Amino acid sequence: MRRDEPIKAQKILILGGTAEARALAEELERQGHAVTTSLAGRTIDPVLPVGAIRIGGFGGAEGLAAYLCQEGFDRFIDATHPFARRISENAIKASAISGVPLEQRLRPRWQKQPGDQWKTVPSIEAAAEALPGGATVFLALGRQYIDAFTGRSDCRFLIRMVDPPEAPLAFADHALVLGKPSSDPDREADLFTAHGVTHLVCRNSGGPAGYAKIIAARRLALPVIMIERD
Ligand code: NAP
Repeated sequence: MRRDEPIKAQKILILGGTAEARALAEELERQGHAVTTSLAGRTIDPVLPVGAIRIGGFGGAEGLAAYLCQEGFDRFIDATHPFARRISENAIKASAISGVPLEQRLRPRWQKQPGDQWKTVPSIEAAAEALPGGATVFLALGRQYIDAFTGRSDCRFLIRMVDPPEAPLAFADHALVLGKPSSDPDREADLFTAHGVTHLVCRNSGGPAGYAKIIAARRLALPVIMIERD
């Protein structure tokens, strides 16, 4: 294709729910493509990307394949969170079923830097076991992942959530912080210091959005229990 030739407009589905997916929707719309972003519908008040939006599950790989065909998408892009594994597996199957080409844009994981004190674990359950008794723990995990820690009544937990919990949390000793992660390491460090945090638990999600807490932990020399995806 010659450089000055206009891009042929395509109909593109983005499996989203991440900042990267929003940026991608904006870029592709700017190029003249017709973009639809699909969200799972987990967040009450999500930041919406430009272009069309659809919300909710497809009903497995077959449902996603049917949707791709019915709507006549030229291609689709998996830009979901790297820990959202089921939808990524469904995307691969749906591409095979429908014949609509799939592109994966999953962000790379964070790499340990000098000064980082990470203990790497393979699962949420292993993270809960790895905490020393008496720790004050910042749990940087979504609501659906924190139950594994409720048995650690010998620890204190600081829990940050985007949306308030529907029912009281079953922790013996915890404090709740409502809101999104800050992109400013100083603010994250101030939060940890104010609550006397001794340990962090988080998943190795990669990307810039949650990295400020990792920088803050490095500066404060706090151990991080890092859950890796396989
Ligand atoms: P998951 O376990 O991989 O997916 C569970 C089911 O939710 C899928 O089988 C699918 O239902 C539906 N689903 C997931 N993502 C969807 C999407 N973008 N559009 C339509 N349906 C979707 O996913 P998850 O870990 O629950 O994450 C859900 C969404 O939140 C993802 O889109 C992800 O990008 C975003 N997110 C996740 C995390 C995380 O930590 N997991 C963090 C930030 C953002 P059907 O089988 O019925 O189609």
